[in-house]
Amino acid sequence: MNDCIFCKIAKKEIPSFIINESKNFLAFLDINPRTKGHVLVIPKKHCTNLTDFPSSLAKELIDFSKETANKILKTVKTTDFNFSINNGKFSGQEVFHAHFHIIPRFKDDKLAQWPKSPSSNELLKKLAEEIKQK
Ligand code: AMP
Repeated sequence: MNDCIFCKIAKKEIPSFIINESKNFLAFLDINPRTKGHVLVIPKKHCTNLTDFPSSLAKELIDFSKETANKILKTVKTTDFNFSINNGKFSGQEVFHAHFHIIPRFKDDKLAQWPKSPSSNELLKKLAEEIKQK
């Protein structure tokens, strides 16, 4: 896509801090890192998010992300990380070219956790039944 910033990064038309590359994926440092070593993994070919991400690339995505995460973890000297995608505006997606966040986590890093709210078995059972039927 012509006006997509991550397509431009994928085509190396604009600068980025690339740390790893495979046939179909690129990994580069997030310019507003949540923690040291925060990296984005993108498919080189444009898609919006997980909804239209080609399943045929799933294995390469996982292999590439694991390899990339290992390099990051060795560098920033930790063992844990979040691997996530914001899928759509309400989830916090700001760039509409699919990207998977690798966010290294450190003991007491104070990065906010998602709040947990208790539910009841009755509500969970009803919801599970509804979802299964779709
Ligand atoms: P999201 O909220 O999931 O859409 O995340 C978009 C991410 O892209 C944010 O963490 C931004 O800091 C990051 N970002 C935006 N533009 C650039 C860029 N040119 N290079 C690297 N990271 C970027």
